[in-house]
Amino acid sequence: MKTFTTTAALQQYLQSLQGKTIGFVPTMGALHQGHLSLIALSLQQTDVTVCSIFVNPTQFNNATDFDKYPRTVAEDAAMLEAEGCHVLYAPENPAEVYDGYTMQTFAFNGLDSVMEGKFRPGHFNGMANVVYRLFDIVKPTKAYFGEKDYQQLAIVQAIVAPHFAGLTIVPCPTTRENDGLAMSSRNRRLSSEGRATAAHIPQILFGTTKQGFTTAAQAKAYAEAEFAKIQGLMLEYFEIADKNSLQPADTLNSHSRIFIAAFVDDVRLIDNIAFSW
Ligand code: AMP
Repeated sequence: MKTFTTTAALQQYLQSLQGKTIGFVPTMGALHQGHLSLIALSLQQTDVTVCSIFVNPTQFNNATDFDKYPRTVAEDAAMLEAEGCHVLYAPENPAEVYDGYTMQTFAFNGLDSVMEGKFRPGHFNGMANVVYRLFDIVKPTKAYFGEKDYQQLAIVQAIVAPHFAGLTIVPCPTTRENDGLAMSSRNRRLSSEGRATAAHIPQILFGTTKQGFTTAAQAKAYAEAEFAKIQGLMLEYFEIADKNSLQPADTLNSHSRIFIAAFVDDVRLIDNIAFSW
C-alpha cells in the first residue's frame, strides 16, 4: 500500500494511473470491519482503491467531540494493508487539504433540516465541503458510503455527487457486532457497562419493526417507552422518515426508515434501519 500525507504527492501518483478506475472510501479513521467492508467492495469493483483518513474539523459542531474523536492512524494503516487497499491518503495538515479551495454553502433542499442536521447545526455543510474537496482531489470513478450514516449518504448522493460527472456513489449496508450494535469508531469510547447498554439500541429498533404497527406515531410511542426503561441510555431523537425525502412519515410502508441518536456514557451513537416486516 502506498501512503501519502500530502495532497500534492497523492495527486502526482493518481495522475500516473491514467485509464484505471478509482474506488474511493473516505473515512475519519479508527477503522473497524464496517469500514473494511467498504474497502472490500471497492477492491472488487474498481482497479485502484484509495482510502482517506481525515478527521475533518469543519464537520464537528462540538470542539470536545472533535478532540475526543479516536485517532489510530498506525493501526488503521496496518488494517488497510492487510485488506489489500492500494492507497492511503492521510493528510496531516487540514490547512493543506483545503489549500486553494473556497468553502461553499450548499442548498440541501430540506435533507439537512431533520435528524442529524437539526441536532448538529453546520455538520452537513462541513461534511459536504470535505467530501466535495476530497472528490476533487481523488477524482474517483466510484465512492463508497455506509448506510450507517444514512442521511450523509443521501446528501452525498443528491447534493455533492451531481457536481462530478461520471461518479457513482455506492451505498453499503451497515456492519453490526454479533449483538446487533452498529459498528462505529465511537464504540471504543464506551465502558464495558456502556457497551452492554448500547446493545439495547438495535434490540429496540428491530423490535419496533416487529410489533405490527401501521402508523409512525404508534411505533414512536412504543420505542420511546422502551428506551425510557433502559438506564444509562439517553435518547436524543427517534424519527421515522421517508427513505428518500428524509421527511417524517405518518403511515408505515416499505419506504419508511427508523433513525435514532442516543447517548451512552456521553458517547453519541446513531443508527437507522429499514422498516420492513
Ligand atoms: P467514518 O469514519 O465514521 O466517517 O465512516 C466512514 C465511512 O464508513 C462512512 O461512509 C460510514 O457510513 C461508513 N461506516 C461507518 N461505520 C459503518 C458500519 N458499521 N457499516 C458500514 N459502513 C460504515
